[in-house]
Amino acid sequence: MGLSKKRDLTQVELITKRPIEDERRIPFDTAEPPPEVIRVIQEQGLSQNKIEGWVAVPAINPPLERISRRKIETRGRVDAVQLLESLLNEPVLEGTLRTIDVLNGCGHHCDTCLADAALPSKMFTVESLDRLFSDERFLNMLQFDSLRIGSSGDILDHPQASEIIKMMLEKTTSIDRKNLSKEGKHHKIKIFTNYRPNLERQLDELIQMAQENPDRIRLTISLPFNRKDTVNKAFVEYAQEREGLIGKHNIDDQGNFKGRISFGEKAGLKNIGIQDVRHPMVLFMTGRILSDEVNAGRVPEWDKVEVDRETSFEDRGFSKTYLNADALWLMVYATPYESHTGRVFTPLSPDNVKAFSHLPYHSDFPTPSNWPGGKAMSMSHQEARRLRSEMANSGKPMKNTVVVG
Ligand code: SF4
Repeated sequence: MGLSKKRDLTQVELITKRPIEDERRIPFDTAEPPPEVIRVIQEQGLSQNKIEGWVAVPAINPPLERISRRKIETRGRVDAVQLLESLLNEPVLEGTLRTIDVLNGCGHHCDTCLADAALPSKMFTVESLDRLFSDERFLNMLQFDSLRIGSSGDILDHPQASEIIKMMLEKTTSIDRKNLSKEGKHHKIKIFTNYRPNLERQLDELIQMAQENPDRIRLTISLPFNRKDTVNKAFVEYAQEREGLIGKHNIDDQGNFKGRISFGEKAGLKNIGIQDVRHPMVLFMTGRILSDEVNAGRVPEWDKVEVDRETSFEDRGFSKTYLNADALWLMVYATPYESHTGRVFTPLSPDNVKAFSHLPYHSDFPTPSNWPGGKAMSMSHQEARRLRSEMANSGKPMKNTVVVG
């Protein structure tokens, strides 16, 4: 599907957030669960009031305007143990969790964002995260091969980011040892952060930690695709001042930087990658995206990007869990017809977790041992193609958040 499909989007939402009238509720209508999930809800007899709502973005009552970090630090403190306490003894959750954000949104607010991240209003306290990671019940909840930090948020929005990573590294030593003896591989902490000039000192700390722990840490530094390339230009200067950060593919025979950093670029440093999202292969056609006019030819292959990719259909209904400072969420993969972020979320609770565990767990990751839904099976390409054209022809609007002007 090319340009015409993009221009035919029937439901284009401008980037404005609606006011939330009822402070106690998440708006129910930002995403809808795919049919596979509805089937489980019905089979397991879950009533609507046992489900808190379905949202495209994992945030409860996100602020309508940016609030200061100082305010978040003082008024938005969340005790991680308290938030999770009611689910820590739940056996079906054993070995399920592999993705965490330490805030409930993202202060970086890139113009394009696969997660269409909300602005943050809360953050976990370091002290409570330390208690959580000291709790065997929580460690049992983690997947044994890796832990990803950064999905709908950025660790560097937390003032004690490097302290948190250091703590996570230490507290997961037992998981690392187990994985090493069982699978012959280290447990990895995978950090995803988006470069910002005002956070260079903190990024330096992460880079140093990654260099000191090459077997345990993988660091991906992303560069945003914004209306203006100011941040990207600042990164090039930053990277050029740090030896080995720019990979050899981007250096010419004379040792000079060639120009733009390409997508998926391996930095010169072993376990650090640089990801410039100004590339059509990146998933920026869901979530928050730039209009054709704002792109204005900067990504020349833009017109070839497919909005509803086949993989979205192949993986529809796959589930996993995700923790941020608002909730432990059930994250279900969806298509752009159900959610503009390609994922739908609902908070997990003792009342709904058993029923939701009958959903298949995402096949790209280890299948948790007590998860009755088992490992998800991808739909065949053929079946996915058929479903995709059915949806395209059904007249159902494709959802999207388009940033204009
Ligand atoms: S792309 Fe990443 S850093 Fe940027 S707003 Fe989204 S979650 Fe935050």
